[in-house]
Amino acid sequence: MANLSLDQLPLRQLKGVGQALAAKLQRLGLSSVQDLLFHLPLRYEDRTQLTPLGQLRPGQAAVIQGQVIHSQIQQGRRRSLLVRLSDATGVISLRFFHFTSAMQAQLSPGHPIQAYGEARPGTTGLEFYHPEFRHLSHPEAPGLLETHLTPVYPLTEGITQARLRQLIQQALTLLETSPLAELLPASQPKQPNWPSLHQALVLLHQPPRDTTWPELESGQHPALRRLAFEELLAHQVSMLLLRQKIRRDAAPVLQLAAEHAHWPQALRAALPFQLTGAQERVLQEIQADLRQPHPMLRLVQGDVGSGKTLVAALACLEAIGAGYQAALMAPTELLAEQHARNLSAWLSPLGISVGSLTGKMKTKARQECLNSLADGSLQLVIGTHALFQSQVRFQHLALVVIDEQHRFGVHQRLALRDKGDQGTQRPHQLIMTATPIPRTLAMSAYADLDVSIIDELPPGRQAIQTLVLPDTRRHEVIERVRHACTAGRQAYWVCTLIEESEALDCQAAEATWQALAQELPELHIGLVHGRMKAAEKAEVMAAFQAGHTHLLVATTVIEVGVDVPNASLMIIDNAERLGLAQLHQLRGRVGRGQIDSYCLLVYHPPLTAHGRERLAVMRASHDGFVIAQKDLELRGPGELLGTRQTGELTFKVAQLQRDADLFEQLKPFAQQLLAQTPHLAQPLISRWQTQELDYAQA
Ligand code: ADP
Ligand code: MG
Repeated sequence: MANLSLDQLPLRQLKGVGQALAAKLQRLGLSSVQDLLFHLPLRYEDRTQLTPLGQLRPGQAAVIQGQVIHSQIQQGRRRSLLVRLSDATGVISLRFFHFTSAMQAQLSPGHPIQAYGEARPGTTGLEFYHPEFRHLSHPEAPGLLETHLTPVYPLTEGITQARLRQLIQQALTLLETSPLAELLPASQPKQPNWPSLHQALVLLHQPPRDTTWPELESGQHPALRRLAFEELLAHQVSMLLLRQKIRRDAAPVLQLAAEHAHWPQALRAALPFQLTGAQERVLQEIQADLRQPHPMLRLVQGDVGSGKTLVAALACLEAIGAGYQAALMAPTELLAEQHARNLSAWLSPLGISVGSLTGKMKTKARQECLNSLADGSLQLVIGTHALFQSQVRFQHLALVVIDEQHRFGVHQRLALRDKGDQGTQRPHQLIMTATPIPRTLAMSAYADLDVSIIDELPPGRQAIQTLVLPDTRRHEVIERVRHACTAGRQAYWVCTLIEESEALDCQAAEATWQALAQELPELHIGLVHGRMKAAEKAEVMAAFQAGHTHLLVATTVIEVGVDVPNASLMIIDNAERLGLAQLHQLRGRVGRGQIDSYCLLVYHPPLTAHGRERLAVMRASHDGFVIAQKDLELRGPGELLGTRQTGELTFKVAQLQRDADLFEQLKPFAQQLLAQTPHLAQPLISRWQTQELDYAQA
């Protein structure tokens, strides 16, 4: 036992830990003594001093001491033992609904008592319900007073606070003789008051009574900051290692063949507009990556409507013109179909074969597509997750484009790598997201990627005016739709999730569609939702695109990508239920042409203060980055990244929002650590069990 370090020492080695308890501890993710030391308190209780009874406030938790002056069983609605306690400053009551005769004897008049609990207003004044108590029979009897703040730990069924405290006490004793390795490099960040790892752990488990307590609970205490930094560093190092590993792979060097050298120029010449400066710059960054013999891993962030699809098309051209295949993956069928239409319109005139592969395709069409991918005759394929499936084989895939990346996680990115040439060469990856990710989040979620930003919208875009209305003013909303559509414009009416069920959601959209058809008999109204057949959806979308339908009622399936420039009015029902990033996406469906555009956010009153604040953000800002930052503050990272990625970003100590400033210093430290003290990387990663990325596969 003495020669095992604490990260190796199993919890079974502690006194009182048998197989059953070890299994319960495992449920908390604790298997070594080191794990236990990193199991930090949720909060603290102050049991270091006595509070005079006369000074107690309702809601206050305190250790008190006094003489029992009265004790009586009360037969109210519930039978209880009521004990009156007095000191020189006042009188309060202790009340027990469950009690034994032994307790009753200990609490009889004349006895000195100490108790710990929370004071609450009751029928007799301030009362303590079921406090912990001690009978102070002898002057030296152990009381309830502690020398340190008392930690309160996260528990699991079958483990009590007392038990966990006692185990952690043992772990701290072991820590005295076998210290944990200090894994932060000596060149620490500029935080002179950060304690050592040892000091930090001791302090957090046993804070001295004079510790600034609010700092501990708010995460501002240097001991916590130091641990959070170490954890974030571990995460960053693991992402950088992954990135290094991927970049050691081979990838095809993409250079246009002489006979296709005119393609990019030909495509540009066919466009009714010029690329923006930002599109040109990002395209150059991509091209430089594609000329390397290692896989590109680049994230392109660009606000809604910034023209990412065209950049993707030009990137695909590089791969196809070099004699390889390219694949573009979209999160929904609707979007895959739209991309297939756009890219085919741009690339087919050059003689490039473009096809699509989705989950709902008929067997025969699907087999044909698979065959032409395998023999290389299909040069560009556009699809959904279906592209990940193992039956999908390419002859020589050189570029994978993932659109609206926030729905895919690191693991899915890794899965795509294996679609390259017989596994010896990996495809380049271009990842595009329309949900701008705030800096701090991007630095941790995408530490394995290079980032390009399209920070410019095509010229002539109209600002979208956003209005917030209660659904009691629905008739006004309908009049606006009537007015816009009879004037030759088009509109979307989005029905948001009412229940956590796609089926009910689609029903709601159908009901709205029927109601609107009655209220607006002069309009052609289409309906699209996730439960419709792919062909039906495509037909509805085509009719809307061609202007045959005036109003399109939809579920949030149209959230991403749909592009109909003549649509200038968007209604979002129950807007208060959606995240800001999602509202921004939806709103981005209008304002794509030259016409003044409007977005009406319709809510169901009453709005909470939170809801009001969120809708106000939408009214005030059109900048996806500002909105994403607000969303992160208001709803946390899950909304922005999707659950998959958020799962990969769960920390033990660190919190993305609270510790945002630490991120700023992270990357150089992680790089320095890998360059100067690479032997620290693995112990650091396993100490924090960050990302369980499969390095064997990576
Ligand atoms: P997003 O970045 O949201 O995916 P899209 O690629 O769908 O945006 O582009 C939105 C619209 O803008 C499309 O109709 C597209 O053809 C058009 N577009 C793209 N680039 C330009 C440009 N440089 N100038 C004008 N319109 C452009
Ligand atoms: Mg797009």
